[in-house]
Amino acid sequence: MRYEGPIYRPPSEAGSLLVQATVGCPHNRCTFCLVYKNTRFKVRPVQEIKKDLEEAARLQGSGVRTLFFPAGNTIAMPAPALAEICRHARALFPNLTRLTVYGSSQFIVKKGLDELRLLAESGLRRVHVGWESGDDAILANIRKGTTREVHAEASRLMREAGLSLNAYVMLGLGGRQGSETHASKTAALVNAAPPEVLRLRTFVPKVNTPLLEEVQAGRFAMLGPHQVLAETAALLEGITAAVRVESDHYTNYVQVSGDLPQDREKMLALLKKALQRPESDFRPFFIGTE
Ligand code: SF4
Repeated sequence: MRYEGPIYRPPSEAGSLLVQATVGCPHNRCTFCLVYKNTRFKVRPVQEIKKDLEEAARLQGSGVRTLFFPAGNTIAMPAPALAEICRHARALFPNLTRLTVYGSSQFIVKKGLDELRLLAESGLRRVHVGWESGDDAILANIRKGTTREVHAEASRLMREAGLSLNAYVMLGLGGRQGSETHASKTAALVNAAPPEVLRLRTFVPKVNTPLLEEVQAGRFAMLGPHQVLAETAALLEGITAAVRVESDHYTNYVQVSGDLPQDREKMLALLKKALQRPESDFRPFFIGTE
């Protein structure tokens, strides 16, 4: 198996076979992200990817149930090539139940409905999308390269194509000044274009990123644990759509998961209880290195 550059996967893909289809990220401008800073985006040759799949099939065969194709924006790969490796994987792994990639909303919208349908028919099941926020001001600040409207359009296209959208929201990304609108506008986006799963993680500044410089220069006021918990509660209170919420990330102060709307009160009670603990009880501030 050959790997090139950083290999990341969502926590929910911890048990998955990882076969690299792309290297780096074609956007590579988000101010909080350091992952692919020194890596140029490229699509690996399909024949090479197929050989890696065949090698994995020889070694693990029927043991493979889920497969993740890194890296940062594999949805940007040409649809026929991505469809071809999805079909090849399905042919090689008889017990495969899920094929997943990362993808940003702007690249999903660029694909259009026909290409997304082709991918779904070829076996792609799920795309993990970094929404980060539903607030255009925050999206512009972090240079996400997309807007709330583009997130909503990508969600609509994916639903129509039969693909599962797992959208990530980054708590604390609006800082103290933007916390209220971050929660309210993100809830509004969820209501307008519900993902299948909404995944929560918390902003941690990373080394060698523009957003860390903002923090250190005092231009970005980070939220403390209590403020993040209050922001989480405001987000959950604002969501009226039926959506699964997962909090499965090491950056979070409290792991609060459940199905909205029926689990809302239980989830809010957990946050309320956490808010009674002193801030010194929670994980300390740290600067991320990966
Ligand atoms: S799109 Fe994702 S991988 Fe690419 S720079 Fe932004 S956060 Fe990083």
